[in-house]
Amino acid sequence: MYQDVLLHVGGRWRPAQGGRTIDVINPATEDVLGTLAHAGTDDLDEALDCAAKGFAVWRKLSAYERAKLMRKAADLLRERLDKIAVLMTLEQGKPLAEAKTELAGSADVIDWFAEEGRRAYGRVIPARQAGVYQMSLREPVGVVAGFTPWNFPVSQAVRKISAALAAGCAFILKGPEETPASCAELVRCYVDAGVPTGVVQIVFGVPAEISEYLIPHPTIKKVSFTGSTAVGKHLASLAGKHMKRATMELGGHAPALVFDDADLDLAAKYLATAKFRNAGQVCIAPTRFLVQEGVYEPFVEKLVAKCEAIKLGDGMAADTTMGPLANARRVSAMEGFIADAVGKGAKVRTGGKRSGNKGYFFEPTVLTDVTSDARVMHEEPFGPLALVLPFQSYEQAITEANRLEYGLAAYAFSRNSAKVSSLGSDIESGMVTINHLGLALPETPFGGIKDSGYGSEGGAEGLEPYLITKFVSQLGS
Ligand code: NAD
Repeated sequence: MYQDVLLHVGGRWRPAQGGRTIDVINPATEDVLGTLAHAGTDDLDEALDCAAKGFAVWRKLSAYERAKLMRKAADLLRERLDKIAVLMTLEQGKPLAEAKTELAGSADVIDWFAEEGRRAYGRVIPARQAGVYQMSLREPVGVVAGFTPWNFPVSQAVRKISAALAAGCAFILKGPEETPASCAELVRCYVDAGVPTGVVQIVFGVPAEISEYLIPHPTIKKVSFTGSTAVGKHLASLAGKHMKRATMELGGHAPALVFDDADLDLAAKYLATAKFRNAGQVCIAPTRFLVQEGVYEPFVEKLVAKCEAIKLGDGMAADTTMGPLANARRVSAMEGFIADAVGKGAKVRTGGKRSGNKGYFFEPTVLTDVTSDARVMHEEPFGPLALVLPFQSYEQAITEANRLEYGLAAYAFSRNSAKVSSLGSDIESGMVTINHLGLALPETPFGGIKDSGYGSEGGAEGLEPYLITKFVSQLGS
């Protein structure tokens, strides 16, 4: 079922030239699923050379032709959805139903960008002289190096690849080593759809070695990274040093504000869904639950009840609603955050520990009475950990929501229309959703501010980072 994962370089699926491989582990069982090819610099050189040739072909195709091939890739992804979902669950751990939802959404992302590429309009600027045409034209940036993580192996990659291809760029993806097969199958959909050789390639290896080789290389004109803020800052500085454009989709620590006039059942239901999806390993997951004093205890009880209804288990089992964490690092991180917070006075209202001794299972956890000096109040939890804190006034909630340097997603629940209309502007965050879960659709902007990064990965804004503006002023035809 799970086959060894190869590189796609130079128009072929092949092992690394050096023959090196890395094991892929099933996080539910800790068994080795297979291996993936581990690229060296000779493989990267071939990918770079081929990407430059692919770009020369792809940029000359009309947006209409590019859209047709991309839409075919989306159809192939839909056709192959059931098989790819199994690979994703085996390597990443998420329940099969979540893997299928991720893949269906990813096919929609391809379709969205395929069409959006046909609307990369320029402008004609009124001239000062008769016969002069002043044109602002949009052109593809060039060959892009993308780096995507293991939490959403397909949907993190599809946003970048699809926007780049729609704009006319070629793409070299450094895929996630821990969850490579489903990501490689996404690339196979573009390849099998007939995208020209060199337009989409995928490599794996040591992330730092690959980024330090690709980013400075003259063939690469743009870098797009999704991952932690620490790594993002390092790659952004490398991109800056070599004058490469960059999109950084980094960590978050999302506040979720629940006011005393909120529909508590709705808030608990939506926030628990958003919190424990993918075992909380989601950059936009709510993490700091800020609850107004009057409804604090009833909300905590509702959230705890939602947690206790979660069925933790192997993502392949039909009744599982939360799978294991994706790797052993996340288990140690959860244990470290909880021990530190409890040592400083926090109370574990449910969960709080690893489940079983095989597989990276961790109980859905709710902490209350977390003190402001707890490490988890400052660092992104990135796991099934909800911190619930009381607040008195609107102003106090906004101050806490905006306290951290993160600014990716924010959630709020209130039935008061004045609050609903001011929250959107008062919360410092790239995305705010109020009274429902409305983030991360193909047609809406996706991205952060402050330490959560820059550049948008969705909506019409998602195409922008892959386009340059060229000005042409022409007298006569
Ligand atoms: P990490 O910081 O080592 O890696 C995060 C991602 O960056 C991984 O995909 C990794 O392959 C990649 N990476 C690391 N060093 C790199 C380099 N020098 N060049 C290129 N890519 C590099 O941590 P991790 O243990 O894999 O993940 C934990 C943390 O990462 C989490 O706490 C979370 O903050 C963050 N993360 C964020 C997202 C997201 O969606 N924004 C996704 C996954 C992980």
